[in-house]
Amino acid sequence: MYNPKSMKADEFICHEEIAAALAFAEENKSNAELLRSVMEKARLRKGLTHREASLLLDCDIEEINKEIYSLAEQIKKDFYGNRIVMFAPLYLSNYCVNGCVYCPYHAKNCHIPRKKLTQEEIVREVTALQDMGHKRLAIEAGEDPVNNPIEYILECINTIYSIKHKNGAIRRVNVNIAATTVENYRRLKEAGIGTYILFQETYHKESYEKLHPTGPKHNYAYHTEAMDRAMEGGIDDVGLGVLFGLENYRYELAGILMHAEHLEAVHGVGPHTISVPRIRRADDIDPSEFDNGIDDDTFAKIVAVIRIAVPYTGMIVSTRESKACRERVLHLGVSQISGGSRTSVGGYADEEPEDESSAQFDVEDRRTLDEVVNWLMTMGYIPSFCTACYREGRTGDRFMSLCKAGQIQNCCHPNALMTLQEYLEDYASEDTKNIGEKLISREIENVPSEKVRKIVTQNLADIKQGKRDFRF
Ligand code: SF4
Ligand code: SF4
Repeated sequence: MYNPKSMKADEFICHEEIAAALAFAEENKSNAELLRSVMEKARLRKGLTHREASLLLDCDIEEINKEIYSLAEQIKKDFYGNRIVMFAPLYLSNYCVNGCVYCPYHAKNCHIPRKKLTQEEIVREVTALQDMGHKRLAIEAGEDPVNNPIEYILECINTIYSIKHKNGAIRRVNVNIAATTVENYRRLKEAGIGTYILFQETYHKESYEKLHPTGPKHNYAYHTEAMDRAMEGGIDDVGLGVLFGLENYRYELAGILMHAEHLEAVHGVGPHTISVPRIRRADDIDPSEFDNGIDDDTFAKIVAVIRIAVPYTGMIVSTRESKACRERVLHLGVSQISGGSRTSVGGYADEEPEDESSAQFDVEDRRTLDEVVNWLMTMGYIPSFCTACYREGRTGDRFMSLCKAGQIQNCCHPNALMTLQEYLEDYASEDTKNIGEKLISREIENVPSEKVRKIVTQNLADIKQGKRDFRF
């Protein structure tokens, strides 16, 4: 029986309820009256249940589909404005004891070079990332209690925060490591992490067990209940995700929204972010071997429906997606993207020859961070390097209640402008700087409060004089 308040994975991700929700959506996909009533509710901008979202995902009435896209765009504008938060992944180690069949780091892959960064190598990687202009990282490591114990991860976080190169600093470290214990989550929290990210990969238990035949990750319940342990350990910003292509996308959408319902029901706060990666080619992984691949249109629809279903949850798209695809989904609800990413261990400081690649997946968007920043601004977006909330203690339910009251907007826009100004001063190419200066002078007029506008104008002038790290 579906029970969002249960602490048991099988009950808060209930297979029977997902099957019923999908059957309901299939039966009613042409039911204009019902679809319109769900759209009415969606327009209140308070979110939708997994059943309602599943129905919109299946909707086959063209006119209503157009309304779904335009509502997603409107919600994106109202909640996130034209800001896009920038981040980069940092791979610490690809040692892994698990057997995930879709990942080249699986334990049986004997020919991929195994690497683990030393603290000196981390200094080189982070210096290279700071020199690009990054302020926010997502660290990634395989699961390996011998090579990558929690002490190693904590030491890496400490090192990353301590590196101050020129005007650079990493101000927020998000962590994407394997499911672990409450005690280890507590230690991560104490180390000052931002979001704890763990992709479910698939919510379909039977498929999950087949896709993870060996290693601790095989345990579906332990993996699925990880966010509850993280929250018990004091981490209140968690990031969900599935790997689209492994299972039926309709199942995954219902599953991820049920997971969000569970977090909200038990902890009073939904997921901070949802990531929407699609399976990609890598070393010994061929995506065509997985028969649940989704095309770009379906991908766009998923993004739009997630935007409507959980308006307060940030959405992340990585460089797995092409420039054209990223451009399309930015309008529909994506609020964070990576730029200039390397998906191999040590890939920022050293360019690897292709045949020795240790990349976790092939990057589709290979542009530099400067090119991505330039492109975003040309489309009218403000690339934001803001990390203010976590540093001001605005996390978890505090963040969500400000967000729901529309208050967070008063911080995001000025913070985006000030961090962009820092980027322009320290890292941008000539052309990017010119475009950015014009964008900032236009956007400053859109700060509604005169008092805030004055402070921001002064801070922007101070940034040009060499001062850094202003924030609301
Ligand atoms: S997905 Fe993660 S846990 Fe699985 S093999 Fe790759 S690195 Fe290891
Ligand atoms: S103010 Fe907070 S919510 Fe807004 S961009 Fe900065 S960190 Fe994110």
